[in-house]
Amino acid sequence: MKLLDGKIIRDEILEKLKENTQSFIKKGNRAPSLAVILVGDDPASLSYVNSKHKMCEALSFVHFDYKLCEDIAEEELLALIDRLNCDESVDAILVQLPLPSHINESNVINRISKKKDVDGFTENNLGRLVQGLDCFIPCTAKGILDMLDYYDIPTRGKSITVIGRSNIVGKPLAILLMNKGRDATVTVCNSHTENLKRFTKDADIIVVAAGKADLLNSSMTKDDAVIIDVGINRIKDESRKKGYRIQGDVDEKSFESTSCLVSPVPGGVGLMTVISLMENTFKAAVIRSKSEIHN
Ligand code: NAD
Repeated sequence: MKLLDGKIIRDEILEKLKENTQSFIKKGNRAPSLAVILVGDDPASLSYVNSKHKMCEALSFVHFDYKLCEDIAEEELLALIDRLNCDESVDAILVQLPLPSHINESNVINRISKKKDVDGFTENNLGRLVQGLDCFIPCTAKGILDMLDYYDIPTRGKSITVIGRSNIVGKPLAILLMNKGRDATVTVCNSHTENLKRFTKDADIIVVAAGKADLLNSSMTKDDAVIIDVGINRIKDESRKKGYRIQGDVDEKSFESTSCLVSPVPGGVGLMTVISLMENTFKAAVIRSKSEIHN
C-alpha cells in the first residue's frame, strides 16, 4: 500500500496561493475575505471552522466569524446572509453545515450570492457544474480532483465507484468525474445499494464518502485500486486526551499488504478540502476586483 499524502499537496498549494495573494495585494487590491457562519456549538463543526480560520491566517486572508445560537430563526439567518451579500468588504460566504433541523438548509444555501458561494452549493453553481461551465467547485470534490492530478492518477476511461450521493460530496464529485475532460465511467452507491462489493470489486478508483467507519476493506477491491477516503468518524477512545480518535470510512489496515494507493484519514482529503476553500475564496476576491474595475 502507498499513502496519498494530503499534507504535501496542501503545503504546495498553500505556498503558491500565498505568492498569488501577495501579488494580488501589491496590485492595490485588498486581501481576500471570508465570512463563516456557524449555527450552534457542535464540536465537529467548531473544529472545522477553527481549521478554516488557521488557514485564513496563514494566507493573510481576512475572516469574519458569525457564531449564532442553535435556536436562531431561519429569517434572522437569511437576513444576515442578505447583509453579507451586499457587504463589499466580504468576498466569500460559507455556512457551516449541518444546520439545526428547524432551518431549511436549501433556503439558506440558495440565499448566498453566486459570486460569494465558495462552497459551490447553490443551485446556480451546481447547475453550472453539471453543464461543465466555470463555477466554484465544491471544496471536497475539488480537493479530491487535485489529489488525483498531483499523483498523476488518470480518470479517462477508468471505472470509478463513488460511495455516497450527498449534494456536498458524492453527487458533485460523480458529475465532475463523468464530465468532459475527466471522462470516467462512474457508479454512485447509496445506503440502499445491495451488495456494495459488486460495485467496488472491479473499480479502478473508489471514493468512499458515507460516514461509516470501516465500510470498505481490501476484500472488496482490486489489488491495485486507488482508494480515496472522505469519511470523518469520531470513534470513542478513552486512551486519547480528547476521548475520541478520527477514523475514515476505509479499514486502512486491511490494505497494508496490497498494491493499492490509499488516502489516509487524517492527513488526506480533509486537508485538501480546507485549502480548496482558500483557493475558492481567492477566486471570489479576483471576481470582485474585476467587477470593481468594470463598475
Ligand atoms: P451524508 O450523510 O450527507 O451522506 C452520506 C451518503 O453515504 C449518503 O448518500 C448515504 O446514502 C451513503 N451511505 C451511507 N451508508 C452507506 C452504505 N453502507 N453503503 C453505501 N452508501 C452509504 O454525508 P456527507 O456530508 O456526504 O459526508 C460523508 C462523510 O464524509 C462523513 O463522514 C463526513 O464527515 C465526511 N466529510 C469529509 C469531508 C472532508 O473534507 N474530508 C468533507 C465533507 C464530508
